[in-house]
Order: sequence, then C-alpha cells, then structure tokens
Amino acid sequence: MSEKVRIAFYALTSCYGCQLQFAMMDEILQLLPKAEIVCWYMLERDSKEVEPVDIAFIEGSVSTEEEAELVKEVREKSKIVVAVGACATQGGVQSWTDKPLDELWKTVYGDGKVKFQPKMAEPVEKYIKVDYKIYGCPPEKRDFIYALGTLLIGSWPEDIDYPVCLEC
Ligand code: SF4
Repeated sequence: MSEKVRIAFYALTSCYGCQLQFAMMDEILQLLPKAEIVCWYMLERDSKEVEPVDIAFIEGSVSTEEEAELVKEVREKSKIVVAVGACATQGGVQSWTDKPLDELWKTVYGDGKVKFQPKMAEPVEKYIKVDYKIYGCPPEKRDFIYALGTLLIGSWPEDIDYPVCLEC
C-alpha cells in the first residue's frame, strides 16, 4: 500500500448508522494521519465518482439495480472491500420478508414513480467478493478500530465472532 492509505466509505440502502458510528470514534483522529478519506457518503454523495482506493467500506444492503452496479464498480476499483454492519453482511431488516417485491413496492410507494429500480434486499457478498466483514448493527467501535488499525499497518485482521448477546 502507498504511504497514505486511500479509504472510501460507501452507503447502499441503510440508515447511515454504521457511518455515524465510524464518525463518532475519537480514535479516528489518530488513524487519519496514515489515511486519506477520498469518499464518505455521509458527507458527500451524489457528486462523487467511484475512485481507486486501498480500502472500501460498504454499509447497507443491495436493494436496487443501481446499487448492484455500484458495488461491482467499487469492487473493480478497490484493493480491499469491507462489508460493514448487518445490512451489508446479512441483508439487514429490510431483507426479512417473505412477500414478493411487487407487493412490497405497492405497499410503500403505491403507484408513485421513483428514480431507482428496486430489488429484494441482499448482502453485498451476493454480488461481489468481500474481503472482510465487520458485524453488528451498528458495529462496535472496537471492531472498527481493530479492523481499520490492522489494515492501516499492512496486516490482516482476524475474523471477529459476533455473539447474539454482547454479554455472551
Ligand atoms: Fe443502520 Fe444497522 Fe444497517 Fe448499520 S447495520 S446501516 S446501523 S440498520
């Protein structure tokens, strides 16, 4: 990796809670001298092109055709792809349904027109190879720090088990 690690944080269908958790880490200030954040959807979304980066974090489930295309482009341009949170790693609550898409669509949008092509919500890994996953809703700050800190020094983080109950 280059001296400054290039990082991007993308969001698909999500509540932006994972990004908020990331933003609220005081420790991020210590990590930032080693990194350059070239894209952060929480701060700026529509005007951003997908740029080549060392590490791409992706929050949210793939729930539209446009998001499916976005994750493929992110994969092509990123050395390491990290799926962040329950939506990206498992599909999130928006995937918990046995109703068909057109029925869900009508319930939420009626006959209204929208700018996107919907799909059933699915984890990022259904579309692209994911190199590492950070679980949780949102993930624990310590898991973010561990994963990012380890990647920034050019090492590889071990998989983190995520218990159903944090007291377990
Ligand atoms: Fe929000 Fe949880 Fe999904 Fe993160 S995993 S985007 S906190 S719903």
